[in-house]
This record gives sequence, C-alpha cells and structure tokens, in this order.
Amino acid sequence: TAAPLGHLMIPIVNKLQDIFSKVGSQSNIELPEVVVVGSQSSGKSSVLEALVGRDFLPRGAGICTRRPLVLQLVQDRTVKADYGEFGHLPDQRFYDFNEIRRMIQVETDREAGVNRGVSESVIRLKIVSPNVLDITLVDLPGITRVPVGDQPSDIETRIRNLIMQRIKNPNCLILAVTPGNADLANSDALQIAGIADPDGNRTIGVITKLDIMDKGTDARNFLLGKVVPLRLGYVGVVNRCQEAINKNLNIKDALMEEEKFFQNRPVYGDLSDRCGIPQLAKKLNQVLVQHIKTVLPGLKARISAQLVSVAKEHASYGEISESKAGQGALLLNILSKYTEAFSSMVEGKNEEMSTS
Ligand code: GDP
Ligand code: MG
Repeated sequence: TAAPLGHLMIPIVNKLQDIFSKVGSQSNIELPEVVVVGSQSSGKSSVLEALVGRDFLPRGAGICTRRPLVLQLVQDRTVKADYGEFGHLPDQRFYDFNEIRRMIQVETDREAGVNRGVSESVIRLKIVSPNVLDITLVDLPGITRVPVGDQPSDIETRIRNLIMQRIKNPNCLILAVTPGNADLANSDALQIAGIADPDGNRTIGVITKLDIMDKGTDARNFLLGKVVPLRLGYVGVVNRCQEAINKNLNIKDALMEEEKFFQNRPVYGDLSDRCGIPQLAKKLNQVLVQHIKTVLPGLKARISAQLVSVAKEHASYGEISESKAGQGALLLNILSKYTEAFSSMVEGKNEEMSTS
C-alpha cells in the first residue's frame, strides 16, 4: 500500500538525498511541517489518516483527539514492513496499526484523563516505511466552545493558543479543515489560519463531509473560492462516516468510495482537480515542490561554501583533492538542473519528473 502522500515527491527527494550523501554533504532538505486545524469533529484526523494511507488514528464523534500528535514519517528503504514507534516507548516497534491507535488512546487517557480532558503535552509517533516521504504531520485537538467533562471553563482559549503556537511557525503548512455542512464564512479553521498566515501563502483549504451536505446544496462555491478566497485554493473530500468506521471499512475501499461519490455527482464534474484525497495529496506535493525550489539556491550556496572550505583545507596540507572538487562541480551542476526541472514542474509543464 503506497501512501498517496508523496507520490510525486518521493523519487525526487530520494534522488536529491542520494546526491547529497554521495558528496558527503551535511545539507538536507527539510520539508515544512503539515498541521491540520479546525473545529471539533470537522474531519481533521480522518484527513491526515487518508493522506498517510494507513488506519491508526482515533477518530469519531465527540472529542477524540485530546493531545497534539506529532507524527514523523521516516523513509527507510531497507524495512520490509511499516512500523510505528512512540517517543515515550523507545525501541518498541508496533507493526499492528490497530495497536498503535490503542496506544494513542491509552497515552491520551493517561495524560488527559478519561473524562474528555485536553492536554497540551505532545504524543510523538514515528512511522517508518519504505513508502513515505520524510515529513512531519501534526494532528491537533479541534476548536470547541462549550466545556464538557473535565474540560476547564476556558477550554476554547486554551485550544486556540495551542493551535496558534504551532501554526505561527512560518515553516508550517496549514490544512484548514471545514465540514461542507457548515457555514464556510464562519469557519474556525479559516479564521485561525488567517491570523497565523494572513497572506495565505501556506494555507490549503479542505472541505470535508461533502456527502452529508443538505439536499439541494453543494460545495461548488466553496471549492471555487467564491465564499472565502484562499490563495492556495481548496480541495473537497469525502472521508469515512461513523458507520463506516464502526464497520472497519479500510482506507483503500474508502478511497474507492470517495472516487465513486465524485463520479456520480455531475455538479463536481468540472472541478475534478479539486475533489478527492488524491488531489489533496497532489496539491500538497505541489506546495512542497515549490518549497524545495525556494530552498535549493540556499542549499547550493551552502554546498559551494562547504566545498571551498574543503579545498582550502586540502591546499593547506599541500594537496588538492581532484576527485572531491570534481564531484562538487558535478553536484552543483545536477542541482542546477533540478532547480530548472522544479520550475517547470511547479508551473505544471510536466507532471512526472525524470529521476534518472
Ligand atoms: P476531528 O475531530 O476533526 O479529528 O474529526 P474526525 O476525523 O475524528 O471525524 C469526526 C467524525 O466525522 C467521525 O465520526 C467521522 O466518521 C466523521 N467524518 C469525517 N469526515 C467525514 C466525511 O467526509 N463524511 C462523513 N459522512 N463523515 C465524516
Ligand atoms: Mg481528531
């Protein structure tokens, strides 16, 4: 099961990392952290899970995500089976993803209590797989207004602060999740994302629950940006409903159901580029590629400087390493080509990039 996230990026990033390691460069490509924000039960955890392509997050009606979950995806081309590892349980590998979900629940209850309490303390989970991109995804508790259970009277302020702390980081990409059956103009997600990212350079709008919109209504105007314009635009998705979760419908079948949903809705026929989880993954990829394109010149400069200093060091010992200098020149040459290729890719001239 290949993760939909990174279907374009993985070969590119792999190639770049290979090049870096060949010349022994310390430089690395650090991708932005992807954070989901929105009101409670808007579908944030469902969206993250679908992007990863695995079932492992607690989801459901009411408050499920009660601690931030920092999910680090780590690519390891040598592992045979995907596994998870928690920050609080080092060296313990979980190959069963249902067990991972159970452990998240146990760890949430332990810290935040069993009565709907929310805690700011982060759960760290690493998922190691040959099919993922090295990227960090963050699931957050949703915005809620009325305190329930053990929640303090200022629960709304606390959760908002928790979200802001995370998304004010400029190296963070915000997935602002709003259910299609709510008023987009009053979206908590867009409101808080708008404070953290007023220019909209790093906010992608996600409209969930298109399947349960009021009869006779649709999300066309949302998706077209006619209700709340968003520079990076919107993607509409259909995740599993509670019944499907209860029946253990797997993610692959859920994605097929989603595809069928859009095929049967002529109203979305001309908007196929902004409908469905695969399109959301694609959009994320485009933004990440754009990010790499932006950081490549800096990387090139750092590598050049590194090579100059190595050359100087060698010279001071009275020897000049021909091969190292030659490799360096080759590396810069390749990086330049990548920069060009990225440009045309971002502008949509070619979908798939050659990695040979
Ligand atoms: P979160 O609180 O924002 O993380 O939301 P969850 O992902 O936990 O989902 C909350 C509830 O909404 C669950 O019962 C999901 O089954 C349901 N849900 C999420 N997305 C959709 C969707 O696109 N369509 C339908 N029908 N239900 C959804
Ligand atoms: Mg959640």
